[in-house]
Amino acid sequence: MADIINGKELAKNIRQNLKGEVDKLKKNGICPKLAVIMVGDDKASKVYVKNKSKACEEIGIDYEEFLMEEDITINQLLDLIENLNNRKDIHGILLQSPIPKHLDINKAFSKIDYRKDVDGFNPINVGKLSIGEDCFVSCTPFGIVKMLEEYNIDVQGKNVVIIGRSNIVGKPLIQCMLKKNGTVTICHSKTENIKKITADADILISAIGKAKFVTQDMVKNGAVIIDVGINRNNEGKIVGDVDFENVEKKASYITPVPGGVGPMTVAMLMENVVKAAKNMEK
Ligand code: NAP
Repeated sequence: MADIINGKELAKNIRQNLKGEVDKLKKNGICPKLAVIMVGDDKASKVYVKNKSKACEEIGIDYEEFLMEEDITINQLLDLIENLNNRKDIHGILLQSPIPKHLDINKAFSKIDYRKDVDGFNPINVGKLSIGEDCFVSCTPFGIVKMLEEYNIDVQGKNVVIIGRSNIVGKPLIQCMLKKNGTVTICHSKTENIKKITADADILISAIGKAKFVTQDMVKNGAVIIDVGINRNNEGKIVGDVDFENVEKKASYITPVPGGVGPMTVAMLMENVVKAAKNMEK
């Protein structure tokens, strides 16, 4: 039976530490502030944004939300970002995805000042990550690294298999795991014989968004399983990508959903906002 990686508890400790750091910054006259832009009315995004604002409130980070109509133009969005880039009181800017299809999200991410890009999606931060320079690392991969560190799970020399190659999870995870000296393989929807690849993984990370995709027969005995997926099952319950009940019997460590990667993602966002505020203090 696997040990459960308790992301909820870890995230709580991280938030507590950050509160102390924010108090110190405030004594020096700096109040970290996060601006969140949401375009349209995506239901799931609303929940994520609410979680982020709650975390800010708990830690003492100021928070301002910009709700834009579904039909705004790319120029209107870029103007808003420009305005936030220029505001001295704002340290972090987050554009909640998804945004409507007529807007080029990469153009918007590129517009965010890389020093305020607390989600790590600006190409400057993406590039810095790939050449090993200090930068903002996208929050989900960053949270996964933290979880592995906190549970003393060594990545060096291990076969790390990532399922999913999105710009926000899979791709930045490649760099994070390489930095830890893992031997990394990435799978996607065109990968052939995925089971053969995952069965060799010491650390298996799934980020695809399909309930019960990772089954017991895909997993090696004693593997570490990180489940990034957030899905709703037939009963309306939130579940991950992993068939938890069965895979748990074979793994050494496993993250639950909810209570695993999700809370860590929010905690790392908070850490990035505090880092952005500290950087501006220098
Ligand atoms: P995404 O942009 O939709 O990417 C999904 C990836 O999965 C793609 O690379 C896709 O391959 C791959 N994929 C889809 N079906 C597959 C299959 N049958 N076999 C192998 N690969 C397959 O998704 P995302 O934004 O990365 O999110 C993935 C999941 O993580 C979602 O459930 C999302 O809600 C969740 N998520 C959770 C957090 C958190 O904090 N816990 C954060 C971010 C995302 P192709 O590239 O070939 O299409």
